[in-house]
Amino acid sequence: MTTTAPGSVNSRDFLPASPGAPGSVGKVTAQMRNAVIAAIGRERTLTEPTRLRTYECDGITGYRVVPALVALPETTEEVAAVVRICADYGVPFVARGAGTGLSGGALPVVDGVVIGLARMRRILDINAADQRMVMEPGVTNADISRAVAHLDLYFAPDPSSQTVCTIGGNVAENSGGAHCLKYGFTTNHIYALTVVLADGSVVTVGGDGLDDIGPDLRGAFIGSEGTLGIVTSITVRLLRKPQSVRTLVADFPSAEHAGDAVSGIIAAGIIPAAVEMLDALAIQACEQAVHAGYSLDTAAALVVELDGPEAECDEGFELVKDICTRAGTTKIRIAADPDERMRVWKGRKAAFAAMGRISPDYYVQDGVIPRTRLGEVLSRIDAMAADAGLRVANVFHAGDGNLHPLVLYNAAVAGESERGEHLSTAIAELCVELGGSITGEHGVGTDKACSMPKMFTEDDMDTMKRLRAAFDPAGISNPGKLFPTPRLCGEKPGKYAPHPLEAAGVIDRG
Ligand SMILES: Cc1cc2nc3c(=O)[nH]c(=O)nc-3n(C[C@H](O)[C@H](O)[C@H](O)COP(=O)(O)OP(=O)(O)OC[C@H]3O[C@@H](n4cnc5c(N)ncnc54)[C@H](O)[C@@H]3O)c2cc1C
Repeated sequence: MTTTAPGSVNSRDFLPASPGAPGSVGKVTAQMRNAVIAAIGRERTLTEPTRLRTYECDGITGYRVVPALVALPETTEEVAAVVRICADYGVPFVARGAGTGLSGGALPVVDGVVIGLARMRRILDINAADQRMVMEPGVTNADISRAVAHLDLYFAPDPSSQTVCTIGGNVAENSGGAHCLKYGFTTNHIYALTVVLADGSVVTVGGDGLDDIGPDLRGAFIGSEGTLGIVTSITVRLLRKPQSVRTLVADFPSAEHAGDAVSGIIAAGIIPAAVEMLDALAIQACEQAVHAGYSLDTAAALVVELDGPEAECDEGFELVKDICTRAGTTKIRIAADPDERMRVWKGRKAAFAAMGRISPDYYVQDGVIPRTRLGEVLSRIDAMAADAGLRVANVFHAGDGNLHPLVLYNAAVAGESERGEHLSTAIAELCVELGGSITGEHGVGTDKACSMPKMFTEDDMDTMKRLRAAFDPAGISNPGKLFPTPRLCGEKPGKYAPHPLEAAGVIDRG
């Protein structure tokens, strides 16, 4: 790690554990507001209640807190200046990218500051020969690939929100997407980060390779959900576009049969670019919304995509067809051209937003199970849904066991919202019981902090808090997230409402 003024993180490496809960009692005073205005200008310092409300929630619209002040810096130096002011006044701050997070990570802290990074969207360097690119945190995920498409390069992690979400948010959440099965999550594609720590010092973690000498500080920052500091510049790894891409949709008489096909594909040593599963209810919704050409009379469908050198891709594709046949597929549809492939993917990616076609309200869950237990977990979810008198649609990254059960309910019917929320939490905890995780890609944030003890012991969490305290001893960088606090765990979120961009059809959940 390299450090620039005003201090080095090394001197604080062994500080006592902080509780990880809000560590500050400071408030935004008129004097502090003037200091921020002096640092970044009046027009980028928001204090009017109507403008502050824009920042009151992220993609989890049930949790809302209006911040005391929003700062919109445009450079690392400006971020550092604002953070230093927060540190001086003991006021907590929360970094915010596009606000599409689905775990309440960018939820403001009461009386705190939001530091919005969306104006920092410059691409600083493209190095085609070394396949790397340096950029500011507000660049959207899709814009990275767009900027290098003419060089036959692209950025592999592909969250469904990629047209809007920022690379800073992707780093903080270690985001995934359909193609992360083969290519890995965000963490596998980041070389270096410039970070403003909670005292305003600026450090660089990582370097030219993915495997630095010494402790993996770059790895510590990726997925830390804004609790270790604010990322202001990112060096990403670019991949060369594959020579060939082949995509099929295979129908199955049950989700268990489809699960068997997934296990068979992986056991055969094939690493598909993506393996996605949709059940009958999800197919019904997305056909109504998008007309992707999925079969309406099937219990489950797999979307399997292979990519790579043409000969390898063709051989693997034949094997995948064989494995699907042996697992009992009733129909295989092969995308004949890039347009048909896009239609298949549009269906999969629209599936979450399409739930509105079959249910007035729904909760999105994000859990992980060992892939081999796919059939078992789906049967248990069915039974739990029947007990709760609710329907659950399943759309998920089957290849890496990342489930996204959608619990459908009608908030207008007394008790359904509570039953839906309870069922959704019970599904996440079932994932842990089966040896999986409470989150695959959406993060812990505010929403799942209370479920952390289901996965981790007090000792585990103390270790995480000590790491956090090494970077942020005062606990002012996104406090109250990740770790359970009595206040947080006593609160209930409000009713789910679609993210404004989701309602406008710009992005969909997945
Ligand atoms: C419709 C929809 C579909 C989605 N699909 C996927 C998907 O397929 N895969 C997936 O993984 N996620 C998905 N998500 C979740 C979300 O888009 C990702 O978590 C994304 O990475 C968040 O980026 P953001 O810029 O919106 O971050 P925000 O929501 O603004 O912030 C998320 C977290 O990152 C922190 N943060 C933001 N910027 C910085 C920074 N520069 N430095 C330090 N911390 C920072 C915040 O404090 C917060 O804790 C989806 C969300 C929606 C609404």
